[in-house]
Amino acid sequence: MLNPFRSLTIRTTLLLVGMVAMSILVMAGLGYTTVDRVTEQNARTRIDHAARTAAALVGSLSPQRFEARLDQEGRPLALVFAEGVAETALEQDAGDAKLLEVIANANQGAANLYRFREATREFQRYASTVRDALGAPAPLRSFGLSHPAYGALASGAVHVGQVPMLGRLRLAYFVPIMTREQRVIGALAVDIGLVDDLVAPRNTLREAIGLWSGILLLVVASLGAFIQMLEMRPLRAIARFSHRFVSGQADREVPGLGRADEIGDVAEGLSRVIAMQSDLERLAFSDPLTGLGNRTRYFADLEALLADGASGALLMIDLDRFKETNDAFGPAAGDALLMWARDHILGELEEGDRLARLGGDDFAILSPGTADTRRAMALAQRLMKRLAEPAQLPQGEVHSGCSIGIALLPGQAATAAEAHRKAELALRDAKSQQDGRCVLFHAALDEAVQNRMQLARLLRHAIDHDELNLHVQPQIDLRTGKLYGFEALARWTHPTLGAIAPSEFIPVAEANGLIPALGQRVLEQACSLARQWRDANFAFGRISINVSAIELGQPNYVAQVQDALARHRIEGACLCLELTESVFLQQEETVLTGLFHALRDLGVRLSLDDFGTGYSSLGYLNRLPLDELKIDRAFIAAADQDPRKRSLLAGIVAVGKGLGLTMVAEGAETEAELQVLRELHCDVVQGHVIGRPVSPLMAPIEGERLFGAFRATPAAALRKSTAKPRVA
Ligand code: C2E
Ligand code: MG
Ligand code: MG
Repeated sequence: MLNPFRSLTIRTTLLLVGMVAMSILVMAGLGYTTVDRVTEQNARTRIDHAARTAAALVGSLSPQRFEARLDQEGRPLALVFAEGVAETALEQDAGDAKLLEVIANANQGAANLYRFREATREFQRYASTVRDALGAPAPLRSFGLSHPAYGALASGAVHVGQVPMLGRLRLAYFVPIMTREQRVIGALAVDIGLVDDLVAPRNTLREAIGLWSGILLLVVASLGAFIQMLEMRPLRAIARFSHRFVSGQADREVPGLGRADEIGDVAEGLSRVIAMQSDLERLAFSDPLTGLGNRTRYFADLEALLADGASGALLMIDLDRFKETNDAFGPAAGDALLMWARDHILGELEEGDRLARLGGDDFAILSPGTADTRRAMALAQRLMKRLAEPAQLPQGEVHSGCSIGIALLPGQAATAAEAHRKAELALRDAKSQQDGRCVLFHAALDEAVQNRMQLARLLRHAIDHDELNLHVQPQIDLRTGKLYGFEALARWTHPTLGAIAPSEFIPVAEANGLIPALGQRVLEQACSLARQWRDANFAFGRISINVSAIELGQPNYVAQVQDALARHRIEGACLCLELTESVFLQQEETVLTGLFHALRDLGVRLSLDDFGTGYSSLGYLNRLPLDELKIDRAFIAAADQDPRKRSLLAGIVAVGKGLGLTMVAEGAETEAELQVLRELHCDVVQGHVIGRPVSPLMAPIEGERLFGAFRATPAAALRKSTAKPRVA
């Protein structure tokens, strides 16, 4: 039920009425008590005066019978029989009636004479000026013990007060009449009229106060409520407006704006809050750089589309080579590229399509009109074509391109989260294949994710339980024909799934945060192996380990390497760290320079793996303190048969050597390839033609067989050193 006291109108009206009632109570109370007191005093004065008058008249008209005994102020205390008057003289004097007349006239009231009957204990009225309604003498009455005056009179004292007479109250003064022996034999009563008449002004005042207070309160209540209602009207309008605003229906400006009073202030405050709210909304839902919707807006739109049961396509776009642009030209160029992409994407959209920037170089299009595969793919193709155009930025021309993942709604996803996940999966798949591709989500992608998750669980278990091994692959120095070193490669054989290739589990480890633990074990076991070989006098040269860019990003990576070297008492030069070009994408150059120098200070060698396959800048080779460059197998394979490839290889070797780097060729499989490498003066070679990756158990034997790498070959020491081959 609605509580009426919630209403400000009712509360303030009640307050007003209460205050007015209180004022009336105080003022009327003061007036009333004053009138009451004055009335009381008047009555007292008049009755005292009447008593004095009566006493004086008795004294002057019947001096032979009565002697009036007075108090200090002249009021009669008693009428005492004069000397020699018989008790029986009371009621026998014919002058009593006359005396009473005179007294009554003088006092403008009534006068009565009583005699006291001791036997019946009552005062009997025997003379009176009281008349009935018709003017006839009132019947003679008597009063007894129950009468208010009886007690005082019977004991010889006066009684002043209200006494009942003919059914009404009169204010009377009773004086006892006594013998000279102090015996009460009667009483004289004078009155000044009916009590009602005496207090009439006071009673009138009381009634008037009652009546007018009622009227006044009624007027105040109704007028107050009316005025309050009028005054509150704009406030109620503001409240209604606020409700409409909250439910998104506010159509016009805040009511009451421009008023000079407090309501105007409230309206002004509200309109400021509304302005702030829309600013906040804009900030919360838009991307500050491009002005497009942000991630929050995108999810809200996606949810709204699915809630409406509408169909459409979700296209997730990722710019290719965005980081390269940022790195090469600076963040301002990156921003300009994003704006350029925004404009080009918008140019391909139709009415109703919504473009949002999810962060970085990720955009998403929600296209309600694009409900089938054919149209979605057509839109994606148009977008890829547009974004493949060279972007003319203030900083220079950039060739970007994009990859796109698509999910169809609601066919492929019932919720926003699912739609987002599926479009993202499709995008990831597109990017994993090659830049500039678009992929529509399909069930196999989900399966692949499930498989990867399963693989991640198994891998975590395998790492925790030391189930990974290291194999080592020899490298020879082409100039001397001697053993140069070994590359340690992780191997994982699952009990039921069998051997799983590094190309499969390393990306899973990287994506699931397992690579630091894996790398730490590889480092540990490689150092342990170096120690064992050193103890066995096996001149292994160096052991290279592969280090993921994520590992290098660990804040304590250098300390980990230092600690492993120290614990196994091997010098840094025994260890070579192979990094791929992806480190340039994940780390700032300044950070990398610091890390590389710190590692080089430990004596550790640094190698750039898979050179030529990723994002390489010759500038990096020049500036970073690298020791060697591993040319990817792609440049070696069939270099003997393809003159262009051979020239390319020659160029790479020349550039690397020119920079003072040791050139290592990876994956040489044939004698002919080896010969090319010799001719091009490549320094080191690794590949099946030299030897495949083998268990570390076999490595010293291989080394001895191939290159006579043992300075001394104490067979017992060799067996001892390889007794614990399992690593990782
Ligand atoms: P990578 O570092 O470039 O290693 C060389 C890869 O080429 C190895 O593959 C090796 O077995 C293979 N290979 C060597 N010679 C030949 C050849 O003549 N012909 C052919 N076709 N291949 C040859 P693998 O062991 O499968 O490793 C693949 C990749 O996995 C490695 O490439 C490396 O990037 C990564 N990887 C391996 N072990 C580790 C590790 O412990 N940590 C990290 N982070 N990555 C690792
Ligand atoms: Mg490697
Ligand atoms: Mg490699």
